[in-house]
Amino acid sequence: MVNYKDLGLVNTRDMFARAIKGGYAIPAFNFNNMEQLQAIVKAAVETKSPVILQVSKGARNYANQTLLRYMAEGAVEYAKELGCAHPEIVLHLDHGDSFELCKSCVDMGFSSVMIDGSHLPYEENVALTKKVVEYAHQFDVTVEGELGVLAGVEDEVSAEHHTYTNPEEVIDFATRTGCDSLAISIGTSHGAYKFKPEQCHVDPATGRLVPPPLAFEVLDAVMEKLPGFPIVLHGSSSVPQEYVDMINQYGGKLEAAIGIPEDELRKAAKSAVCKINIDSDSRLAMTAAVRKVFAEKPAEFDPRKYLGPARDEMEKLYKHKIINVLGSNDKLANL
Ligand SMILES: [Zn+2]
Repeated sequence: MVNYKDLGLVNTRDMFARAIKGGYAIPAFNFNNMEQLQAIVKAAVETKSPVILQVSKGARNYANQTLLRYMAEGAVEYAKELGCAHPEIVLHLDHGDSFELCKSCVDMGFSSVMIDGSHLPYEENVALTKKVVEYAHQFDVTVEGELGVLAGVEDEVSAEHHTYTNPEEVIDFATRTGCDSLAISIGTSHGAYKFKPEQCHVDPATGRLVPPPLAFEVLDAVMEKLPGFPIVLHGSSSVPQEYVDMINQYGGKLEAAIGIPEDELRKAAKSAVCKINIDSDSRLAMTAAVRKVFAEKPAEFDPRKYLGPARDEMEKLYKHKIINVLGSNDKLANL
């Protein structure tokens, strides 16, 4: 049993309370490898932002849960070395699918877990989430639950259609489970293909596809039922078209990749939404940078020469999200 506090990590409770009051959101960035983690930590330190490091099922399969935990421990030390005396770094399990998995993460030093019972019948979701909360709270680990189903594919989480969160259920769910935050479904979705072209309209100025708006009325209804309760948005990458273009320019083939417009996320961040999950955008940044090096310098075979630029591009992206979309810069409790 390792307690996250001994690793210098923090849970989400205090940072979410401050985020709701301050009208901003904390970035939750997924990580699978060293370059991504370096970029996240550097961006968070340089912008003085709290940050959530997320570990998905795909990341655990790819990089190993134990190794990722030690990397997060290293991230705290790295942040201090970069000059941040009091970093606020959360190590969070993304889409935990069983009590056993959540328990194993709590036991090995995660400071926050998500139990995703959103695909289960309501009462089973309540029971499972409550069981995880009861275990995690003994160690002051915070728990995110989910109500409503997001469309799209993220690692091994996938669903064909959205089911918006039913605002009538949220009070009962939050009260009976005791969860610390709630992921809701209002039209965001996992992956880089969030909308079908036929759902979108064409912006005459740019020729780009514009997706349908998020269901802010659902978010408003949830906030009315649960005033001041931390809300989480999954699947909130914007799929920057400059990266899609760059990937395609250098030999890739991404067709009609569409994300959530950043002005909608900016609006959400000002509300009770206090955690916004971003994964696909960093994949796109990394891939675009690597493809550019491969296309321009075909003789290059030192991985540092293409993973280095990829890391720089991700850092730029993370800083942009923190400063221009979420507004979590300069929000550390001890600046
Ligand atoms: Zn998700």
